Amino acid sequence: MEMISAVRGFKDILPPETDKWRHIENTAQAVFSSFGFNEIRIPVLEKTDLFRRGIGESTDIVEKEMYTFTDRGEDSLTLRPEATASVIRAYLEHALHGVEPVSKLYTIGPMFRRERPQKGRYRQFHQIDVEILGPDAPYTDAELILMLIHFLSRLGLKNLTLELNSLGCAECRPAFREGIVQFLKGSEGELCGDCQRRIGTNPLRVFDCKVEKCGAVIAQAPLLTDYLCTDCREHFAKLQACLDRFAVPYRLNPKMVRGLDYYTRTTFEVTTEFLGAQNAILGGGRYDHLVRDLGGPDIPGIGFAIGLERLASLIPEQEGWSPAAPQLFIAALGDRAVEKAFSLCNRLRMKGIRTEMDYGGRSLKSQMKRADRLNSAYAVLLGEREIEENRALLRNMRTSTQEQVGLDELEETIIKIAR
Ligand code: AMP
Repeated sequence: MEMISAVRGFKDILPPETDKWRHIENTAQAVFSSFGFNEIRIPVLEKTDLFRRGIGESTDIVEKEMYTFTDRGEDSLTLRPEATASVIRAYLEHALHGVEPVSKLYTIGPMFRRERPQKGRYRQFHQIDVEILGPDAPYTDAELILMLIHFLSRLGLKNLTLELNSLGCAECRPAFREGIVQFLKGSEGELCGDCQRRIGTNPLRVFDCKVEKCGAVIAQAPLLTDYLCTDCREHFAKLQACLDRFAVPYRLNPKMVRGLDYYTRTTFEVTTEFLGAQNAILGGGRYDHLVRDLGGPDIPGIGFAIGLERLASLIPEQEGWSPAAPQLFIAALGDRAVEKAFSLCNRLRMKGIRTEMDYGGRSLKSQMKRADRLNSAYAVLLGEREIEENRALLRNMRTSTQEQVGLDELEETIIKIAR
């Protein structure tokens, strides 16, 4: 029969990769918790309007990348392409702002974008998403970025670049927008078709265009940082001073506008040279009007989203994690030995000791080979002779040393060395 394969761009995450993911998630949980964040779990399916309004009509995501369908002739629903809009929807729906002036939330899960699949880019991918809703002080931006950098360093990641920019606010952004429109109109003929259209719809998107000739035009473009109002300038300076105080290195990149419309003031990305074309492992920024745009009160926010696939690809084995392996493998041969081993194996498991055995009746030698392949720390050899003599051979697989242990003391001995 014909085999059914996974959908294009949808990837299985197999062991031991899943062990690495677990390590990342546990580290995230521990670090975020010490910075006062709580987990929120939200659905993967939302009403399409949430993303139309939240992300912006003229972004690539909303224009061409969403998995949208009509649910049995009723609502238009969309598989979430990012988490921020959903987090805010939940925040408003449950009036969390009424309970606490500051909400620090994180969530980890799959996102869906119908992009062209390639290395580092999938149609279902995963994000660690972190949001702070409530305060707009630059200390908040600094605390979020400090936590992020601390998290990445806890994972042992090196050679990362933090790129930082400020996109201004409702006061100063319109003047910049006007300036950039004027500038782009002057070079309209040198832009790709998409960017010519963007002048009218979303001129900031031209900064993101990967077409070479557009890049050449943008290199000459006016810079947002030159247009910042006094408040935005001070906010940005304070953030930088806080990062300097913790010796966090960053690179100011006034051309980084990010792919989503909702950002105001602080935006940032972390990039690495090791990922090739898809060099950003995370992106984030402040969104001071998004909550209001989604129907809530005027509450500012800031957040970031890390791509789990890209993050995981940067973490080698032995960097704080290793593939899960048995603590003990019991190689048993003969009915009586297997009987005994079966009981011992499951008793040890219930005591939290990862124990494996083989019911296949294969030779002790081939069972030991399997113990080795599974990278078991210890092995017990139990054949007919051992049963006769009421003892077993306990082998330390790392040092290749072994000792005889009486069957009556075996369980206790194993528990002692495994702990
Ligand atoms: P964004 O939500 O577009 O700001 O993306 C934040 C991060 O999510 C990026 O830096 C990537 O690490 C990751 N990401 C975004 N899109 C994809 C994708 N299609 N496949 C894998 N990772 C992605």
